[in-house]
Amino acid sequence: MDLDNLLPQWHQLQAAAREVRTRAWAPYSKFHVGAAVLTDNGSIIVGCNVENASYGLTICAERVAICSAVAQGYSTFTAICISLTDSPVPCGACRQFLVEFSPDMLVLLDDVTRPEDQPPEAVRLAELLPRAFRL
Ligand code: ZN
Repeated sequence: MDLDNLLPQWHQLQAAAREVRTRAWAPYSKFHVGAAVLTDNGSIIVGCNVENASYGLTICAERVAICSAVAQGYSTFTAICISLTDSPVPCGACRQFLVEFSPDMLVLLDDVTRPEDQPPEAVRLAELLPRAFRL
């Protein structure tokens, strides 16, 4: 997939996700995640994971970004970039959360240990969550 042709804004999206990752609230897991969504009108909205001493209340970076975007009036997204170390794939809950809005969005899987000038892996959300639950 030629990301430069498919999503020319990938550099900005990746930079935003990496930057917001530095603000993750992860005192328990030390697992810092940043996410940046690209709205259909070109805005970039960010989110980071926010943990809680009551572990079940923890919320992932992807859902923080989507909730923030929705609160700002956006509900259609072209892409999301998820930045973290190791294996940057969204959890199952986040995949379902993303499908609610834009089932065909592009998901950029950004391993922050890779140089910024290298494009992240790009996959379609439908590949990550085939046969998603819909009402
Ligand atoms: Zn998640």
